[in-house]
Formats: sequence, C-alpha cells, structure tokens
Amino acid sequence: MPQILDGNRVRDEIKAECRPRIEKLVAQTGRPPGLAVVLVGNNPASEVYVRNKTKTAADLGIYSETITPDADITTEDLLKLVRVLNLRPEIDGILVQLPLPKHIDEQAVLLAVDPEKDVDGFHPYNMGLLATGRPGLRPCTPAGVIQMLRRHAVEMEACNAVVVGRSTIVGKPMALLLLAENATVTICHSRTKDLAAVCRTADILVAAIGRAAMITADYMKPGAVVVDVGMNLVTSRAEAERIFEPGRMAGFEKRGSQLVGDVHPGDVARVAAAYTPVPGGVGPLTIAMLMQNTVEAAERRTGAITGTIADA
Ligand code: NDP
Repeated sequence: MPQILDGNRVRDEIKAECRPRIEKLVAQTGRPPGLAVVLVGNNPASEVYVRNKTKTAADLGIYSETITPDADITTEDLLKLVRVLNLRPEIDGILVQLPLPKHIDEQAVLLAVDPEKDVDGFHPYNMGLLATGRPGLRPCTPAGVIQMLRRHAVEMEACNAVVVGRSTIVGKPMALLLLAENATVTICHSRTKDLAAVCRTADILVAAIGRAAMITADYMKPGAVVVDVGMNLVTSRAEAERIFEPGRMAGFEKRGSQLVGDVHPGDVARVAAAYTPVPGGVGPLTIAMLMQNTVEAAERRTGAITGTIADA
C-alpha cells in the first residue's frame, strides 16, 4: 500500500507550532501579529479563500483585517492603500488576494508591498533571497510542500525531482526550494518535449499545472513520491467518468462536481510509493504556511529573529 502524505496532520502541526510563538510575541510587544488582507471586488472563489484565511488567523489569535475595495479601484488608489498598510506598525503581514481585476497592474501592486510584510513571498526581493539561498519569506504553497515532505521523512537530498509548472506562485519557487534541499531539479512546462519521459525520471514528481488528472501512470516511475498541487473543479460527467473508476463516482453524483488534482487519483494509488491526496494533501498547507509567515514577519519586525530581511 502506498503511503498517503497527510496534509491535515502537517497543517495541524504547523498551526500548533505557531501558537507559542504568537503568545511570546504578545508577551513581548503587547499585541498579536497583524495580517491585512486586500480583497478587491467580488470574486466568489477569492471570497472563500480570504474567509478561510481570516478564520484560521482568528483561531490562532492573529489579528486580521480585510480591506475590500470595489472592483473598479484604480491601480493608483490600490498602490496608495498598500503604502498605508506598509506604514501601519501593527500590521506585520500584507496579502493582496489574486487574481486582481484585469485593469489593475498586478506587478506594480505586488512590488509596492514592503518585502518585510510580504507574507505571500511573491515580492521580487523575497524571490531573490530564495534564488540566492538566503533566509526570507517563502511562497506559501511550495514551502508547504517542503514541510509535507520533511515531516513524512521523504529524502530529498540527491534525488531527482521533476516539477511540472513554472508559475511564479508555485512551479519556480518549488524548484528553488527543492534545489535548496539538494535535489537535482528539472522544471517542465507546456513546451517540454516528451513530458511523460521526463516525469518518469522523477523520484519526487510535483504537478502544478491546473489540468485535471493529466498526470497518469505513464508519467510516473514506479515507487516515486508524487505531490499534487493542482485544484481543479470537474463539472462534466464525461470528464468525471474518465477520471474515476465505476463505484468511485459518489462525490460527483452527490454534488454534480468534484475537486480533482493534476494527478490521476487511481493511477497514483497504483504506481507511487507515496502521494498527496486531493483533497487533504497540499491544499490545507497553504493557509498554515501563511500563518507561519505572518508570525515570522512579526518576529523579524520585533527583532525576535535577529537581523532584518535586508541583512538576512
Ligand atoms: P499557472 O496556470 O500559473 O501555471 C501552470 C503551469 O503549468 C505553467 O507553467 C504551464 O506552462 C504549465 N502547463 C500547462 N499545461 C501544461 C501541459 N499540458 N504540459 C506541461 N505543462 C503545462 O498555475 P499555478 O501555478 O498558479 O497553479 C497550478 C495548479 O495548482 C492549479 O491547479 C492551481 O489551482 C493549483 N494551486 C493550488 C494551490 C493550493 O493551495 N493547493 C495554490 C496555488 C495553486 P507554461 O508556463 O508553458 O504555460
């Protein structure tokens, strides 16, 4: 039987480790760590994500506030709003929920966030720290994957790791974090030739593509560790029948849709030595890592972690 890499367990561990650090910060500074979330417009999926983030913050005793400008806010006004948050001393972390409306210059907004408060880890300054192997705030989802692998004692050193996907949010930082663990890393994308053959070289295969169940048995080396970052909502019955074996359609039948990763769920259970399920794998870790980054940002700002990000 393959090992199932349990994201809920790792999430709970990470949250439990945050609690005493938060208590210590409160004792030292007289206030909890503070997180500001900027949610522009009324994207329903973003509203759910933000609600889950602020709920987790409240559960941990992190102060959070959500700022909700209308969808027609200008880039200039959004930049002003971010600059005000940069200056507020009780705010340690700033998160601008993506995607932003199309008319807004997303890069300019992300660049405006003070790197010391950049709890998403998307600022080029923090990406630069990651690329040069220095401490700093790391993007939450790939940092969560590393925690998942470490806490299930998956050996990363000297293994062949293949990352499918090269986004700034997941694929690229994932590859850099695996490199920092001394893996030999290959990054693949939509122009990669014979993707299946490259994936079959992987001891650790990370799929961050956004295509439901694309990674089938042909892409997996028997005995590989497979990490599925994908979150895709399958709403077509034909697609669900391609993915799920007869008798495993109950979730789809009940809701008329089903959350599916980028990895074929039946194939990975047959071929891999260990894998992250969807749901219950990588998904729960992103928010836990956001909380950890907020605590870390607060510690750095109060000097509890020696040195600032600037001289890390
Ligand atoms: P992007 O769309 O930004 O990037 C997708 C990447 O996959 C691109 O690099 C693209 O290549 C590559 N790709 C697309 N199609 C193929 C293909 N046929 N063959 C090979 N490579 C391909 O997505 P994200 O990185 O933001 O997200 C990836 C997945 O992870 C999504 O399902 C998303 O929902 C999920 N996600 C989950 C999170 C979580 O908390 N669990 C958090 C963030 C994302 P190219 O660059 O050439 O276009």
